[in-house]
Amino acid sequence: MQVELTLSASKEFFNGYKNKSWLSSGIFSFFMSLILAIIWYKLLNKQQSFSRVIRDAIKFSEFEPFYQPIIDSRTQQVLGAEMLVRWCKRDGSIVPPSQFIPFAEDSGLIIDITEQLVTKVVDDILRFGWHQSDHFVSINIVPKHIENDTFFKFLTSAMDEKKLQPKHISLEITERLQIDDLHTARQELNKFFDYGIDLKLDDAGTGYGGFSYVQELGINTLKIDKMFVDTINGNDVKASVLEGIISFAQSSELSTIAKGVEEPSQVTYLAERNVFTIQGYVYARPMAKKTF
Ligand code: C2E
Ligand code: CA
Repeated sequence: MQVELTLSASKEFFNGYKNKSWLSSGIFSFFMSLILAIIWYKLLNKQQSFSRVIRDAIKFSEFEPFYQPIIDSRTQQVLGAEMLVRWCKRDGSIVPPSQFIPFAEDSGLIIDITEQLVTKVVDDILRFGWHQSDHFVSINIVPKHIENDTFFKFLTSAMDEKKLQPKHISLEITERLQIDDLHTARQELNKFFDYGIDLKLDDAGTGYGGFSYVQELGINTLKIDKMFVDTINGNDVKASVLEGIISFAQSSELSTIAKGVEEPSQVTYLAERNVFTIQGYVYARPMAKKTF
């Protein structure tokens, strides 16, 4: 009898507890979902408003090409320049690419931004007098630019309009971003190659593509990342990666450009390994066209 009573009391207690626990976990889930919905709504709103701000900046032509020279360390001659975007706001402030390029890449607005830059770059090539020389300007592209021929048509018609030769423009594609369809990308890239524009692999050794990008995309130059240049004269294990990239490039008959070179000792080290094409603060920072 005693045992029966104890058992039924425990059962009631347990059921009550179970109901309460169901109730409290229901309330908990409700509030969690509410909080997540609010966060999601705010993020979406923030993204939409950033997207509006960037669209306005495109409309007011606020994206400006800056130029960083690429130099032959043997002769100290400027061979060309990489175009690096800056967002020059109407209030006079200058926003670096790290603050808007990732969003522009994700949202697809990078296409409109690049087109705005291309229009300015072709004018600048004439302004610098580079159309009468062998100098080139490198333009950064992302996988979206080679998903179809929109960018190819835009770039080549801008060049044709100013009667620029293909050697004056070069493209850089980063290894950081994944190209989902290498076959289509190569087909699109062939249009640039047939026109006479070449392709460099940026951030070589840091990202997705590895050397499959080199084999599949028709790359002719590796841009050695600052991450590896920084290992020169140090004990970093990545120093062997630098050696590996250089010897891979040379055995595959690819040109090399070392970027992020800050010290003369790095220039010397690279020259000893036949890497003479240098981009970095050791020579110059990116500059507005007037200064350039
Ligand atoms: P990136 O293509 O790797 O460009 C080189 C970056 O290294 C530039 O940064 C340049 O200012 C910086 N740099 C060059 N030499 C040195 C050096 O000696 N020391 C140090 N500490 N830095 C050096 P920036 O201009 O801030 O650009 C950052 C990234 O934004 C670029 O990296 C590129 O991935 C992206 N970016 C810039 N312009 C464009 C563009 O027009 N389109 C696209 N899609 N991406 C762009
Ligand atoms: Ca680049």
